[in-house]
Amino acid sequence: MSAKSINVLGLETSCDETAAAIVRLTPDGGPSGLRGEILSNVVLSQIDLHAPYGGVVPELAARAHIDHLDRLVANALEEADCRLQDMDAIAATAGPGLIGGVLIGLTTGKALALASGTPFFAINHLEGHALTARLTHGVAFPYLLLLVSGGHCQLCRVDGVGDYTLLGTTRDDAVGEAFDKAAKLLGLGYPGGPEIEARAMHGDARRFVLPRPLIGHHDSGCDFSFSGLKTALRQRAVDLQPISAEDICDLAAGFQAAITDCLVDRCRRAMEKFADTTDAPAPASSKRLVVAGGVAANQHLKHALEDAAHRAGFTLSVPPPALCTDNGAMIAWAGAERYHAGCAGDADLDAPARARWPLSEKIF
Ligand code: AMP
Ligand code: MG
Repeated sequence: MSAKSINVLGLETSCDETAAAIVRLTPDGGPSGLRGEILSNVVLSQIDLHAPYGGVVPELAARAHIDHLDRLVANALEEADCRLQDMDAIAATAGPGLIGGVLIGLTTGKALALASGTPFFAINHLEGHALTARLTHGVAFPYLLLLVSGGHCQLCRVDGVGDYTLLGTTRDDAVGEAFDKAAKLLGLGYPGGPEIEARAMHGDARRFVLPRPLIGHHDSGCDFSFSGLKTALRQRAVDLQPISAEDICDLAAGFQAAITDCLVDRCRRAMEKFADTTDAPAPASSKRLVVAGGVAANQHLKHALEDAAHRAGFTLSVPPPALCTDNGAMIAWAGAERYHAGCAGDADLDAPARARWPLSEKIF
């Protein structure tokens, strides 16, 4: 275990953000025993590139990563006032994600590490999300994580670096994907989450009460399902043709309310399980629910989760929106945590790019 500060360069290219960042980890007490600092965090979103297609086009995403990644690495170093030689480690996302994009970040990270003689860490993108609250809030293990993004929807228990237990996952769509598809069928723009949230603010959620899949199904653990809800929304929209602006706002509000109820219900169950399975009864202040991923930006969801967490004796921690969506700082931080925990990075130079990589699956 290292006692000095560690500087890590992190690269993220698994979906539609090209990102590079430098973080510093200093071991110095506090609840987690670590202090995190972001020295730079450069993110280039590809939203405009994919918006005309209503979703991410993998080939276009990969080409854009190639075009921009080296410049973003240079910008991240410059902003942090660092040279590559000042890095103690280099980390890059090795999956899960769109394989063309993952290959570009992973290969770039390996090449930079080899050229500079710096240890390399191949990071599970989900681990980056899982550990971000330790960078932003100094959260101590163990805690519960709700990961809600464009590609993922899962609940897991985080007991340490590399120690994750999956409690529930989606049986069909990721929750961000459900927002995006719902927006598309209502004729709204991409990405759909912010569009739905904006319309829902002016809508009446009681006018269309949409199904809440899996709520009350005790044999479903903490799993999620959103495809039935999406189909119900489509049916309502078809029945209303021609659809008015008011209908769209009411449907958006009904959809957002249904998704929120599903997520809150699953989190309630996970909080009960967490309390039952934590060996030493933790003081209330240390029972924590962390939310990460782009959907965590949704304020309606955040307030509902805050309320549910409070009732269950949990504290809710949500990293700031820029660190909830994909970014390089979370990958750099996961690398820094691995380095600090003494995980050797040598084998990571042979790490393959992986389209699928469950968080609970050990590294290679
Ligand atoms: P990520 O996959 O983490 O990069 O996050 C992107 C996903 O988050 C997309 O599916 C967005 O539609 C979704 N998203 C972003 N902002 C919001 C919001 N305010 N409400 C719901 N979903 C959102
Ligand atoms: Mg994204």
